[in-house]
Amino acid sequence: MRSFAFEPFDLPPETERLRAEVRAFLAETIPHRTARERAESWMGLDPAFSRKMGERGWLGMTWPKKYGGHERSFAERYVVIEEMLAAGAPVSFHWIADRQSGPLLLRFGTEEQRQAILPRIARGEVCFCIGMSEPGAGSDLAGVRTRGHKVEGGWRVSGQKIWTSNAHVATTMIALVRTSEGERHTGLSQLLIDMTSPGVTVRPIENLTGAADFNEVFLDDVFVPESMLIGQDGNGWKQVNAELAYERSGPERYLSSIRIFQEFLRVIGPEPTEAERLFIGQVTAQMWTLRQMSLSVAGKLSRGEDPMADATIVKDLGTTLEQMLPPAIQALVPPDHLVFFEDINSGVTIGHGAPIADRDFNSTLAYLVQASPSFSLRGGTREILRGIIARELGLR
Ligand SMILES: Cc1cc2nc3c(=O)[nH]c(=O)nc-3n(C[C@H](O)[C@H](O)[C@H](O)COP(=O)(O)OP(=O)(O)OC[C@H]3O[C@@H](n4cnc5c(N)ncnc54)[C@H](O)[C@@H]3O)c2cc1C
Repeated sequence: MRSFAFEPFDLPPETERLRAEVRAFLAETIPHRTARERAESWMGLDPAFSRKMGERGWLGMTWPKKYGGHERSFAERYVVIEEMLAAGAPVSFHWIADRQSGPLLLRFGTEEQRQAILPRIARGEVCFCIGMSEPGAGSDLAGVRTRGHKVEGGWRVSGQKIWTSNAHVATTMIALVRTSEGERHTGLSQLLIDMTSPGVTVRPIENLTGAADFNEVFLDDVFVPESMLIGQDGNGWKQVNAELAYERSGPERYLSSIRIFQEFLRVIGPEPTEAERLFIGQVTAQMWTLRQMSLSVAGKLSRGEDPMADATIVKDLGTTLEQMLPPAIQALVPPDHLVFFEDINSGVTIGHGAPIADRDFNSTLAYLVQASPSFSLRGGTREILRGIIARELGLR
């Protein structure tokens, strides 16, 4: 049986100065963001905020300067991301582009694509969405049916994508498309699709919390020029898998529920009960361990290694913690602090029972109780991740 090695990695002390800078920026830039808004974590959207981050040089941080990057270390990037998530900053507009589309283009894109696109990502001007999932192809991604027919100068693409986060605001989609028949895992390609192209229709899907941040995307005979192919025609499957390591290992995979933990600490005050103390200790230890594991994966990615399995373990353990937090806190907090039937968008209490003891706490908890079931679906489901881990261990 194979095993994994999460090599310990400590952030260099000099990153603490950057951490202080980021905290000062956040205190100045988003002082009035409510706890409920901060609970949206990396789904909070504000294009102006993304541009401000670009101005500070905090997007495309590790990329070469010739592509608009800043040639800073992955440890520095980690500190910025960690602070953004801890503060619940509205990072969604640039998130996917900075986290995975940019690195994908750096690795597989043409020189022309890198020069044209990466500086715009680093300035926070563009929003990317990921067009992988389809109605009949989620876990079974190799089953995508969106088809690109070869025509003079490019492809004509037709099909349907679903659950596409931010498609309604995105400038560009990186779509996984079948460009030739053959084996299931060959014949797939990644294409950059301009979301303003004729034939692209985006329809929002409302989720359990009432927000509509993912969508259905219909592609009807959309022309995609040859220059928009990423990497090699037919190599899409391998490229997507490389991309998923960026998607699965970051601190966003264990910090999505951090706001309710912060609110919990605030509400219980300086003298927690025995049960609360025990809970705080357990959660803190788990978070710290996940942070070390996530840092280890970030280190491997920065050295050009392919830590697919390690990243998968971080996501599986991380989302387990993120999903455990809201119901565990719900069970611990005295009932007179809670009203669970508050409509989280209007703030109106639609149930009956106790008065609202603490609106920030309640609305944050209500939001995360409803949002957290999706944490183990986005980016690959728990069952699929465990299948990958088993395969990497040589168990299947
Ligand atoms: C909030 C959110 C945002 C998302 N954003 C995007 C996005 O931006 N772009 C994008 O392309 N997709 C996105 N997705 C889609 C996501 O990647 C898929 O939902 C996910 O991969 C699961 O696919 P599915 O929904 O088709 O479920 P299915 O694949 O139909 O799975 C249904 C259930 O069956 C289980 N299952 C399936 N196959 C197996 C198997 N072989 N062994 C054991 N169990 C199995 C699954 O674990 C799951 O529990 C998003 C999803 C969510 C919830």
